[in-house]
Amino acid sequence: MRLLLAGLLLVAGSSLAQAKVRIVATTTDLMDIARNVGGDRVEVSVLSRGMDNPHVVEPRPSQVMKLTHADLLLRIGMDLDMWVDGLIDAARNGKIARGSRGYVDCSTGIRRLEIPTGRLDPSMGDIHVYGNPHYWLDPENGKIIARNVLNALQRTDPTNAEHYAANYRRYASEIDERTRAWEQLLGRFRGAKVVTYHKSFIYFLKRFGLTEFGNVEPKPGIPPSPSHVSELIRDMKASGVKAIIMEPFYEKKYPDLIARSTGAKVVIVPPSVNSIKGMDTYLEVIDAVVRRVAEALGS
Ligand SMILES: [Zn+2]
Repeated sequence: MRLLLAGLLLVAGSSLAQAKVRIVATTTDLMDIARNVGGDRVEVSVLSRGMDNPHVVEPRPSQVMKLTHADLLLRIGMDLDMWVDGLIDAARNGKIARGSRGYVDCSTGIRRLEIPTGRLDPSMGDIHVYGNPHYWLDPENGKIIARNVLNALQRTDPTNAEHYAANYRRYASEIDERTRAWEQLLGRFRGAKVVTYHKSFIYFLKRFGLTEFGNVEPKPGIPPSPSHVSELIRDMKASGVKAIIMEPFYEKKYPDLIARSTGAKVVIVPPSVNSIKGMDTYLEVIDAVVRRVAEALGS
């Protein structure tokens, strides 16, 4: 009997040691960063596709299934992935409920930009109400996300704390090294003005010393209007703006019109992992944005 018990404990112990931490991420960028920090001790799945506009993701039953079995939930937070709140409720998994140990808001520790001041009113648009949530496009913030993932993994799986810490250190120093190269590449365009379709590149532009001149959308989430676009064309011509940066999931009609009227180039960049074919990692995404913007400004 004692032998049998010991045997059972041994089996239980070894299966515990092998059990991977199940992570569910709201976006593909969080998925990739989590894989880098978790390594072979985690299993990561994602609730949206890279080509989705992350503000608007359709809820599906398969997403609830993933959350039901999750040990950790990673979200962008602020008001970007509010669509996950209903899914969390539907999953009824105490491990990842808001405020529990497995609920990870990756915006923790981020220095938020564009926090609205004064009273909010509908004319300002109905998104970005807690500040601009597109912070992952600054690689320094990629490191903060990785640090949040590290903290969560160490809490959930303390046995492997050192493994996660080593992965984090390696990944963070790779980000540092790549960032130096990116800064060098964009350094000669310091102060250059660009137009972006949505207000999604503000953290990226700030990191690399570029200036947001205007947006094709009049307010975040409000579609462009002919009057706004014609004002933008007039101002861009007067200032010699050379690039209109946009995500692949927005309509090109107005950006193309603006490009024809001003001589600026439309630059389609991948805002997320898997948003464009071949962009499989977070570092590839940032690299592609840097290169495409540099190419447009240098031509
Ligand atoms: Zn946005």
